[in-house]
Amino acid sequence: MDKRLRWFDEGAPKLRDVLDRLRLGDKLPADKDFYACPCCLLAYPREAVTAGLLTIEDVPPKSVGGRPMLLTCKRCNNTAGSDFDSHAATKADADDFVRGRVTGRPLPMTSYVDGIPLRGTAEWTDSGVQLFGIPKQNDRKVQAAHFEALDAYVESGNPRPNHSFTVNTRFDEARVRISWIRAAYLAAFAALGWSYIFRGIMDPYRKQLQQPESKILPTYILRDPNVSPEARRVLLVEQPDELRCVAVVLGEHTVFLPGLFRPMTCDELVEAFAGQRTEGDQLNVSLDGKEVPWPKRATYFLD
Ligand SMILES: [Zn+2]
Repeated sequence: MDKRLRWFDEGAPKLRDVLDRLRLGDKLPADKDFYACPCCLLAYPREAVTAGLLTIEDVPPKSVGGRPMLLTCKRCNNTAGSDFDSHAATKADADDFVRGRVTGRPLPMTSYVDGIPLRGTAEWTDSGVQLFGIPKQNDRKVQAAHFEALDAYVESGNPRPNHSFTVNTRFDEARVRISWIRAAYLAAFAALGWSYIFRGIMDPYRKQLQQPESKILPTYILRDPNVSPEARRVLLVEQPDELRCVAVVLGEHTVFLPGLFRPMTCDELVEAFAGQRTEGDQLNVSLDGKEVPWPKRATYFLD
């Protein structure tokens, strides 16, 4: 069976149970199954899968190494791609470049010899940075002057030609962060279930996703470049007591979400962690608690 239908059939009865438990059962018609998009909470019937309105979502986004994990609605999935995830992918590419990682993904650059520009791409290879000019992005005369100046340097044997290049990447830091927070929210939903995200304390997260322009969630991601990009964890932090939360590790990014019991709001979490961060963006304390298996699909642990 189509993976999407299977995922719908696994989620729908859990959704019904949780709504009944919250005495919200009458919110959905009783004679049909529904799956709510975890990002906007709109409920969709089973036909929405075949109509393409419920789609498979990669967590984290595929462009930063994610895998298919759950269903979100087409609208939320698509808008996240352009509003947030494209920014996260560009930033990840820029970071990889700065760290000299060979990724096979060339970045746009401008190279200068004696101030004469040449536009093209830059890429790390096993033998170092390689720059390529792209003829259609350059004026022919300027391009010729650039190479002439470069040749003159090579011939002169000058060990330090007046040569530099800049990589041109554009991304919005705030949107990069929302992309990672969104990925963590979805992983926490897939691991813990509807009961986790239906709590009022999670409303600001969804509101932020619907309103990319506004600043609703405070900044609040820990970055540790020493963590493997493949690392994936959901940790229910119990110790220290004042940092109880759900920590979601997505490679070098760790996002702290409200915990299960006596949960702190997003603002309170930021404050609680602010005092524990060192300058190098490490944590001064170690976090202990229960590890929940990383969800390969939604497992609804608490439902
Ligand atoms: Zn949605």
